Amino acid sequence: MKEFDYIVVGGGSGGIASANRAGMYGAKVLLIEGNKIGGTCVNVGCVPKKVMWQASSMLEMIERDAPSYGVQADIEKFDFKELVARREKYIDFLHGAYYRGLDSNHVERIEGYATFKSDHVISVNGEEYTAPNVLIATGGRPSQMTIPGGEFAIDSNGFFELTEQPKDVVVLGAGYIAAELSGVLQGMGTQVHWAFRHSRPLRTFDKMLADNLVEIYRENKMKLYDHHVAKEIRQNADGTYSVYFENGNVLTGDQVLFAGGRLPNTDKLGLENTSVTLNEKGFVIVDKYQNTTSEGVYAVGDVIGKIDLTPVAIAAGRRLSERVFNGKSEEFLDYENVPTVIFTHPTIATIGLSEADAVERYGKEQIKIYRSRFTPMYFALSDYRQKCEMKLVCLGEEEKIIGLHAIGVGVDEMLQGFAVAIKMGATKKDFDDTVAIHPTGSEEFVTMR
Ligand SMILES: Cc1cc2nc3c(=O)[nH]c(=O)nc-3n(C[C@H](O)[C@H](O)[C@H](O)COP(=O)(O)OP(=O)(O)OC[C@H]3O[C@@H](n4cnc5c(N)ncnc54)[C@H](O)[C@@H]3O)c2cc1C
Repeated sequence: MKEFDYIVVGGGSGGIASANRAGMYGAKVLLIEGNKIGGTCVNVGCVPKKVMWQASSMLEMIERDAPSYGVQADIEKFDFKELVARREKYIDFLHGAYYRGLDSNHVERIEGYATFKSDHVISVNGEEYTAPNVLIATGGRPSQMTIPGGEFAIDSNGFFELTEQPKDVVVLGAGYIAAELSGVLQGMGTQVHWAFRHSRPLRTFDKMLADNLVEIYRENKMKLYDHHVAKEIRQNADGTYSVYFENGNVLTGDQVLFAGGRLPNTDKLGLENTSVTLNEKGFVIVDKYQNTTSEGVYAVGDVIGKIDLTPVAIAAGRRLSERVFNGKSEEFLDYENVPTVIFTHPTIATIGLSEADAVERYGKEQIKIYRSRFTPMYFALSDYRQKCEMKLVCLGEEEKIIGLHAIGVGVDEMLQGFAVAIKMGATKKDFDDTVAIHPTGSEEFVTMR
């Protein structure tokens, strides 16, 4: 049996980051990946999504916004197929960059699906490998529809397989992936019908964000349907699909896109042969150091079901390797105050507690809210006055900022710097003491009254 210091199962964001960091410190590392290197983010997540978002934003800018600046540009041709081909070429380039990085850190690689034979023995392609340290970084996958005809719906992976732009799409789901892909398609000229179960989408985020998003999507001709629970999908004779809802409504499109949550990749791992414990939803249980219930077996990333973001998986993977292979015994990732951007049209930026969560945790009298709603200067010359809304959630007398939320043009690129301040414990007074940058949207954050 071949022996290593560290076996990493899963070559996505978390696995690669941890393997490289361990290799950097001289550990003998094996990385096992069953599919394409880079995992969800590179192949069917952040990267292709952001490319599609950029393309969609560009089209929106040319068609909707440019005329207000006296720019009359006709889009002669938008070639969806070419966009997809160029996107995939870029992803191939990233694969190469990952391989070069792993090679430079002397990380050995095997292509194949790994299973655990015991806590420290891993089988892949019929061979067995062992190490005192093993990382589970197998990520997750989209959940599938279980209603009759559910197989007709594509998921986010299927979205990235499209080479033809659909004319009409029915999107089902209320989370950030449904919100993002709806915006991408609508911005590209597809008619999107976005249906969700409850009164609003993005229910885990501050309500102000969803309220504005719904308003803006409607202004941009997207059709939104709340309180819509799908019960069946049928294929029609002309090749389109109809979604039948419990309330009697029927929506038809040439694609149905279901973005209804993600499942952990733990079911086929052979974890029953180990002492690793899963929670009731199948996610790996870890402590703050990413230790599972089996000594020397760790887990990071989407497979732990905590915060499903690439930089979170990377940070946890790197800190773990710092702890195990570089003697930094107290190194761990703090999962509080993780900034998040949702690539809707316009973008959403959020960190910390929503107003509702803050009130629930600390009581209404402890929380002070500052808000600003304005038309960004980008729309100054336009008849279309898209709004930007920002909110600060402050705690106690010193008004420590425990939540910052924004939706509007450019807020995606504003958040990172504010996140540093909030992580350092900034108060409203610190924001007030900072001189504004004019004319920008971000100056609103330091001038709120
Ligand atoms: C549509 C979409 C958009 C997203 N957009 C963003 C974004 O804008 N920003 C952001 O930060 N995050 C985004 N995410 C989330 C981000 O992609 C994930 O949080 C991140 O990829 C998690 O990394 P990971 O290492 O935990 O898992 P993954 O990246 O999923 O990697 C896991 C790897 O393990 C492999 N694997 C599984 N089982 C085995 C096995 N038995 N043996 C060997 N290999 C195995 C898989 O093939 C996969 O390559 C998005 C996700 C989706 C789906």
